[in-house]
Amino acid sequence: MRILKCYFCSGPMYPGHGTTFVRNDAKVFNFCRSKCHRNFNKKRNPRKARWTKAYRKAAGKEMVVDATFDFEKRRNRPVKYDRDLVGKTVQAMQKIRTIQSRREEVFYQTRMREAKMKEKAALQVEVKENVELLAPAAASREKVLLNVREKVKERQAVRAAAKAGGKGKGGQRGGSGDGEGGGMDVS
Ligand SMILES: [Zn+2]
Repeated sequence: MRILKCYFCSGPMYPGHGTTFVRNDAKVFNFCRSKCHRNFNKKRNPRKARWTKAYRKAAGKEMVVDATFDFEKRRNRPVKYDRDLVGKTVQAMQKIRTIQSRREEVFYQTRMREAKMKEKAALQVEVKENVELLAPAAASREKVLLNVREKVKERQAVRAAAKAGGKGKGGQRGGSGDGEGGGMDVS
C-alpha cells in the first residue's frame, strides 16, 4: 500500500481516494480529488495555480532545498520484511518529520520577517510622500510652525549678530580701557 502524490497539488492521495488517469503513452497521473482532476482536464498548469505546492515552491514560499527531503524516495525494488528494520524506519520517519517541521517553521519566520521589513519600508515611504493627504491640517500646521521657527531663528541670528558686533566694539573699547587701567595699576 502506498500513499501516492497528487499530480496537480502534490498533496497525498490516500488509498481509496482520488482518481488515476493513464494516458495513452502509459504515463500515470494521480489526482487526490476531483478539483485537481478537473483542473488537469482544463489543461491548467499546476505552476500557475496559486494553491498548488508547485506554485508555492516556484515562488519561494516553501522550503525547497533541505537534506530531510532526500529520505523520501520512490523505491521500486521490494525489501524483504524485517521487523527490526520496519521499527527503525518508523522511528526514523518520526524523527525526520519533527526536524523537518522545525526547519519549515524557521524558514517561514525568516520569510515573514523579510516581508514585514519590506512592507514597513514601503509604508514609511508612502507616508512621507503623502503627509498632506493623510492629515492636511496637521501638515499645514507643521509647515506654519516650521516657518515660524525659521523666522525666529533668523531674528535671533540677526540679534546675535548685532549684539556680537556691539559687544565686539564694546569689548575692544573695554579691552583698551582695561589695558590702560592695567597699565595704570602696574605703573
Ligand atoms: Zn490534488
